[in-house]
Amino acid sequence: MVGSTLTKEQTTNMKRSTAIPADQLKPVVAQIVAHQKIYDLHTHLYTPRFGTPVANSTGKTDPTGLMLWGVEELVTYHYLVAEVYRVVPASKLPYEEFWKWPKSRQADHIWKYLFVENTPVSEACRGVLTTLGKLGLDPNEKHLDAYRDYFARQNPSQYIDKVMELSNVHTITMTNPVFDDNERDRWLADKTVGSDPRFKAVLRIDPLLRNFPQAAAKLADWGYQVHGDPSAQSIDEVKRFLNQWLDRQDAIYMAVSLPPDFRYPANQTDTLALAGQTILEKAILPVCAERKMPFAMMIGSNLRTQPELRDAGDTSGISDVASVARLCRDFPGNKFLVTMLARENQHELCVTARKFGNLMPFGCWWFLNNPSLITEITQMRFELLGTSFIPQHSDARILDQLVYKWDHSRKVLVNVLTDMYTRIAETGRLITREDIVHDVEKLLNGNFQAFLAQ
Ligand SMILES: [Zn+2]
Repeated sequence: MVGSTLTKEQTTNMKRSTAIPADQLKPVVAQIVAHQKIYDLHTHLYTPRFGTPVANSTGKTDPTGLMLWGVEELVTYHYLVAEVYRVVPASKLPYEEFWKWPKSRQADHIWKYLFVENTPVSEACRGVLTTLGKLGLDPNEKHLDAYRDYFARQNPSQYIDKVMELSNVHTITMTNPVFDDNERDRWLADKTVGSDPRFKAVLRIDPLLRNFPQAAAKLADWGYQVHGDPSAQSIDEVKRFLNQWLDRQDAIYMAVSLPPDFRYPANQTDTLALAGQTILEKAILPVCAERKMPFAMMIGSNLRTQPELRDAGDTSGISDVASVARLCRDFPGNKFLVTMLARENQHELCVTARKFGNLMPFGCWWFLNNPSLITEITQMRFELLGTSFIPQHSDARILDQLVYKWDHSRKVLVNVLTDMYTRIAETGRLITREDIVHDVEKLLNGNFQAFLAQ
């Protein structure tokens, strides 16, 4: 209404008055990005009710608890296990010996070789330092004992609040693998285990797609009428199982991680892949469509390339984006959240997302979560997709990692956005604070919420 009463010249003048001068763009973008609360759409973090193995002020620990946090967990994170084996090779420290050590000894070993005797330059090392610093601890300590006392004094639930405040995250999305007995038993024993206003659940169902006969045997054990072949009865029972668990968890989407050789349609000679395809087409995607929930596919991880490194032994491989395109085309009533592990797949994924509104590329996953690659991928996504993508997720497995993952990613986003706005401003199109607030809100929160609601 206001616009209609102003002349064109007055409107242009008004816009000009709120436009950000070129030399002020970066600090304004930085301030807006820092203030935007984040919806973290993929982590492996848990509510305190899942138990924690970490010593804390409540005096209660659970050796198989799932809520991981604190310096011991940060320093023994699998990225750092892989990195310490670059410095102290298996010829000097056999893997089986390292795995026999208590976690505190593993942590001391990693701290000594990666943080004290060498400069901690890798992204995973720098992340630990950023986190310690933001918690108010001195990252120059020669021994971890100085930090251990600090974490042992924390109350797990209050510590979650502190980490969420420091990282400015408003919601943490869990990953809840229902075929993991430890996790499943906790949901069955306590139906409120996932109820925490700070967290959302996600039903993770890898074995259904990757090894249906094995998943079917488990489902049969749990009382579902499922057999190793995906018959009509088996499919109905898989759908019943999925719906029960989606309800139990109050999950916001379903998710799977897939190897680089995932193909849709599956190779006709690969019976395991064909069974997975039937379950995908006839059970998983129909359930997602009925519930209007996205199906998340994380594609490109080769598991246990070096089995002796355990979780640290997985690698990345080039996947098939055409398979993603075919799924988006054949299932227009479904929504696909997709992230891919290989740098080589990123361009084709962007191009595919230009063709399919039901495809939402998200995050810079795992080995891509490094500033140089986040910069490259985010820039490319802006150039090909405008602001219609989700630039990042934390993938944090250790609560405290939220602090560094978001601090580092926000810095990259500020640089990429500033460059982008500078280039637009060069055309004469003014950039206002409102433009920036609108874009940043979409990127760090709104695009995901809108995709869920769509
Ligand atoms: Zn993950």
